[in-house]
Amino acid sequence: MKHFLLILLMSVPATADARQELTPRERDMVSFIDSRFEDAVAYLERVVNINSGSMNFEGVRAVGAVFDATFTELGFDTWWVDGAPFGRAGHLFARRVGAGSGADSGAGAGQSGAGPHILMVGHLDTVFEDDSPFQRFERVDENTAVGPGVIDMKGGDVVIVEVIRALAQAGALDDVTITVALIGDEESSGDPLELGRAALVEAAREADIALAFEPGDGKSETAVTARRGFTGWEVTTHGLRAHSSRVFSEDVGYGAIYEAARILVGFYETMAGEELLTFNPGLIVGGTDITFDDQEEEGTAFGKTNVIAGKSLISGDLRALSLEQRDAAKERMRRVVVEHLPGTDAEITFRDSYPPMGPTEGNRELLERLSRVSETAGYGAVAAANPAEAGAADISFTGAHVTAALDGLGILGSGTHTTHETADLRTMPMQITRTALLLLRMAEDWNR
Ligand SMILES: [Zn+2]
Repeated sequence: MKHFLLILLMSVPATADARQELTPRERDMVSFIDSRFEDAVAYLERVVNINSGSMNFEGVRAVGAVFDATFTELGFDTWWVDGAPFGRAGHLFARRVGAGSGADSGAGAGQSGAGPHILMVGHLDTVFEDDSPFQRFERVDENTAVGPGVIDMKGGDVVIVEVIRALAQAGALDDVTITVALIGDEESSGDPLELGRAALVEAAREADIALAFEPGDGKSETAVTARRGFTGWEVTTHGLRAHSSRVFSEDVGYGAIYEAARILVGFYETMAGEELLTFNPGLIVGGTDITFDDQEEEGTAFGKTNVIAGKSLISGDLRALSLEQRDAAKERMRRVVVEHLPGTDAEITFRDSYPPMGPTEGNRELLERLSRVSETAGYGAVAAANPAEAGAADISFTGAHVTAALDGLGILGSGTHTTHETADLRTMPMQITRTALLLLRMAEDWNR
């Protein structure tokens, strides 16, 4: 299936029909989307008012249950992926296999369905646990609402639901296969992460394209075609404990803290300034005795000014746009670490977390399609967001397995992860319309 979609994506002339009109079918769909505005806001209010901090497992499941009922009502099969193996609540999955429009669905239909297979990604959890002061949805005015997760990303989850409603209203649901993945631990992912994202990766393998509904960079004229991944790293250094008056001497050497300083300067000198590569030490402890708890990300140090440091630890992150860039950076960091100062020793360990989502040709083509329908619907062109401004997200796990992926398709606003999280509700019909038109046209082209 996948290469057919690629051909389909590539075969669209780059600029030709940018100004074409909406068809009557599309116009009806857009009116339907606009007519549902208040219902969609009410639904958003309902799910925002259920606390679903990542560690409130019951709350995450309760939000999942609301969406489960909605997807079931829309004719989807749903299932819950138990989160116990990775220490979180789990995820909701929903799937509807397109049977093919008309009566002649026999040949092409079946397991794989009639049209393109779209994976739509959201998350159920928020950063606001049940002891947070920020718990309620509040409609500030006609176009503005605040609330925990109102854009990150229960708003995006509602966009998914409304896109599906719009496709159903247009009679197009049988011309696509849709899998929805609502992840239960995006904000604080369980451990091991590979286990926590196994079901998402599996769904991506079966899909042709992946769309995610995070708020992106907050701008209505951009969508996300690339995200940097991140890798955690830890440097430990060792020195010989001795009286400070003997520092730099041949038999005692420099101590653990000088070695740590050399390594950080070395990282900076060999790698700073490379485009879209960042590496940041977030914590350092050093002295005679240290402790470090990598779960709590806290540590203690004991030392005396007249004693050469015996131990230090630095913990940081590394963000890169591609696996090649990430691996090259790791190699350079390793080479810096092994050039020890006299009397010291050091090692570095890496822990890969979110993979990068590279800016592929497929992603660019899909963005072009989205931009074209957006212009046709009167919402203006959509360009690629700067990957430096997009954090790691779940879409990154799908990138390697689909022909094309896009993120940043959810409701927009400001203040994510703060108690001022605010939705610009005017962006809701805009985002629903863009994705619904994108999928409708894709289904029509596929079945042509
Ligand atoms: Zn999010």
